[in-house]
Amino acid sequence: MHEMGLMAGVLEVVHESAVENHIKDVTVVRLRVGKLNGALPDALEFAFEALRADWQEIKQAELVIESVPGRMVCLECGLDQEVSEFGVECVSCGSWVTEVRSGTEFEIVGYEGFPSEERGQAS
Ligand SMILES: [Zn+2]
Repeated sequence: MHEMGLMAGVLEVVHESAVENHIKDVTVVRLRVGKLNGALPDALEFAFEALRADWQEIKQAELVIESVPGRMVCLECGLDQEVSEFGVECVSCGSWVTEVRSGTEFEIVGYEGFPSEERGQAS
């Protein structure tokens, strides 16, 4: 499953950042996922739940996905329109000459958590 690989990468990034910032207990991981991205929120949620137990700092965390609608601009008539898939014609003039402007995102917005109690006692 494609989402497993994506989520494994996300958790690795969050883990590394949490360690670096002495965050012991991550409570929320926030992602921004475009509807044209191909990564399905349900599958991401499933992958998150399956993988979070592998990471001490993340295993109690919740996943919050912010969904971004797909938008494209017609380069013939200039209409900015919402789309749910790639390769569709302009709803206004029927042109195929279009440019996707959003909806392909896959970004880590951030995460929230509590600092380690051992902070300051290391080394
Ligand atoms: Zn058009």
